[in-house]
Amino acid sequence: MMTPDVARFRGRFAPSPSGPLHFGSLVAAVGSYLQAKSHGGEWLLRIEDIDTTRVQPGAADHILRTLEQFGLFWDQTETYQTQRLPLYQTVFEQLLQQQKIYGCNCSRARIQSLGGHYDNHCQQRAQSIEPLAWRLVPGEVSHAFTDLVFGHIDIPDAICREHYSIKRRDGLFAYQLVVVVDDLQQQIGQVIRGADLLEMTTRQQALCQLLGQTAPAYGHLPLAVTAPGQKLSKQNHATDISSQPLSQSLQQALILLGQQVPGELQGAAVTELLSWALANWQLSKVPKTTEVLI
Ligand code: GLU
Ligand code: ZN
Repeated sequence: MMTPDVARFRGRFAPSPSGPLHFGSLVAAVGSYLQAKSHGGEWLLRIEDIDTTRVQPGAADHILRTLEQFGLFWDQTETYQTQRLPLYQTVFEQLLQQQKIYGCNCSRARIQSLGGHYDNHCQQRAQSIEPLAWRLVPGEVSHAFTDLVFGHIDIPDAICREHYSIKRRDGLFAYQLVVVVDDLQQQIGQVIRGADLLEMTTRQQALCQLLGQTAPAYGHLPLAVTAPGQKLSKQNHATDISSQPLSQSLQQALILLGQQVPGELQGAAVTELLSWALANWQLSKVPKTTEVLI
């Protein structure tokens, strides 16, 4: 029997509440929403507040309200990573038992001196010292995968070989662990997200495998940038999208995603634009480029 589309196309939007939604995050929201909903799948909302040091008070609520203003209503109740710590702890203990992780007490200065990628130094170290961070030995990480948007993607060797941190020195579980645990536990069929995470994909697939489960499919959307390599963020004061004319922003997001919005929809209300987009969405039209200058 074929898997029902509702699970096969179950998607998610997973914003970090470090500030209000900006145009770049709207693109990821719209793309993941349309891909799931136009195929009869569910679209879940997960607030990725695991990194509490970056959480801005009130940002999560503001994100929820902004999505509603755009008519981007999610299925089920939204989830918060900070409410799922026991789940992450269970998986952490499982990996510990399987001897897939080891403690790393390298100083920040030492890691910085390596120029970007950790050299797996502490794997051979006797485990007597209290570790500061926990690193995963990910096993065989594939050097390539097929992206739903880009097609064949090669991943740099350094990324495949690195034993990356899954629990940080400050005791917080790392994005790399929790994103995989959440996507598996929520039975996400397709992960549609920004291309800044393109190179993390085979790592995440490998972790799924390590946990004995099938990875979702992955598709990456172009990032809106103000200059090459400059994605919109709170740091560069990206504008709160809810303070801009809604339908204009939605139309711009659709255009960035390669969808040919008909001229007569110029200035149409968001509900009208969104229902056109749902009926006409084509992932194959999304530009195969990691960045689009705005
Ligand atoms: N929380 C991440 C972000 O806001 C997205 C993670 C993901 O989609 O895998 O950049
Ligand atoms: Zn180390």
